[in-house]
Amino acid sequence: MMEETIRQTVRLRARDRCEYCLLRQEHEPTCPLHIDHIIAIKHQGTGTLENLALACGVCNRAKGTNVAGIDPDSGELTRLYHPRKDVWDEHFLRDGALILGRTAIGRTTVWVLQMNIAPRVELRTLLQKLGELD
Ligand SMILES: [Zn+2]
Repeated sequence: MMEETIRQTVRLRARDRCEYCLLRQEHEPTCPLHIDHIIAIKHQGTGTLENLALACGVCNRAKGTNVAGIDPDSGELTRLYHPRKDVWDEHFLRDGALILGRTAIGRTTVWVLQMNIAPRVELRTLLQKLGELD
């Protein structure tokens, strides 16, 4: 019951969209968005609201228990985007159907979460044509 309340709160707070790639639940009707531990339990993350985010299945699976990655531009070890502490627009921008990193954190997160692999770009291209990409 408690867990269901937390799930509901996370979902409402995120307005039913992935907090990483911004995919809306309505565009992924057969796959309920996941509750992501921003810092994985194995890295001492907790189950509190401050450490939870809503994530689509693709972002969640690609992120796994990663908390960092290698910035593809600099080769430097860089932490991932933190939906509770960071602001999306400061780290990412949309370029048509692509999601690009504005910062090392953004670039690393785009890379680790595989935000621009073909099926995802194809879906965003379609949504854009339908006027559904915001
Ligand atoms: Zn996503």
